[in-house]
Amino acid sequence: MTILPGETPKKLGLVIDLDICVGCHACAVNCKEWNTGGHMAPLTDLQPYGAKQQGVWFNRIHAFEAQRTDGKPNQTVHFPKSCLHCQDAACVTVCPTGASFKRSADGIVLVDESKCIGCKLCSWACPYGAREFDADAGVMKKCTLCIDRIYNEHIPERERVPACVSTCPAGARHFGDLGDPNSDVSKLVADRGGYDLMPEMNYKPTNKYLPPRPRRAEAAPGGPKDLNAEPGPENPILRWVDKVLSR
Ligand code: SF4
Ligand code: SF4
Repeated sequence: MTILPGETPKKLGLVIDLDICVGCHACAVNCKEWNTGGHMAPLTDLQPYGAKQQGVWFNRIHAFEAQRTDGKPNQTVHFPKSCLHCQDAACVTVCPTGASFKRSADGIVLVDESKCIGCKLCSWACPYGAREFDADAGVMKKCTLCIDRIYNEHIPERERVPACVSTCPAGARHFGDLGDPNSDVSKLVADRGGYDLMPEMNYKPTNKYLPPRPRRAEAAPGGPKDLNAEPGPENPILRWVDKVLSR
């Protein structure tokens, strides 16, 4: 069992806008490119061009077709998912060797590969499927929030954000300190009803999702009730995504 540091004052994390994400996968590709040579390198691919390819990807984009029951067209939701750097991360507490740990300085959850025995307990404990086992190296890997970018004094300051944030062409990804109520990301979450994924699990994820906005015609006064009109956990789209992910 590995001990968590408790509530960290600084909570670095991502805010992902589901209203804006178009599912282009640029974030996933740039994540793969950066981290293939980064802190947890390599991000192994096995049989990349074969029928049974396997690869380590820290960031994966799911696309869901949300069915409407009111006769309106179905709605596609693109849902990027990576480690949410939870405050109460069971992936850390189940780790028998101390390989999985959460940093007290910034709340980032990491794996020390030199201590990992590849038992996969952490991936079973993670309700979000955010752990990535490297079958070639025999160790667990995961999103580091690009610690080798965000603190890297050898790159321009404006580029010291995770690779996924730096590359998103739609501006759907934001990075910052969610422990500071005055940070830009915290204000964005407050303004838009930012949401914890599967809050009933009590892992207290740091990353937040911004729900899709009401479509213009349906948001008009007197218009039909919109699937997206309720922000936060009451939002049916997000409730539905929770349901799909928890299967
Ligand atoms: Fe651990 Fe999963 Fe939470 Fe990441 S999302 S901190 S891997 S439980
Ligand atoms: Fe810890 Fe590695 Fe086992 Fe995960 S696979 S619980 S990081 S030893």
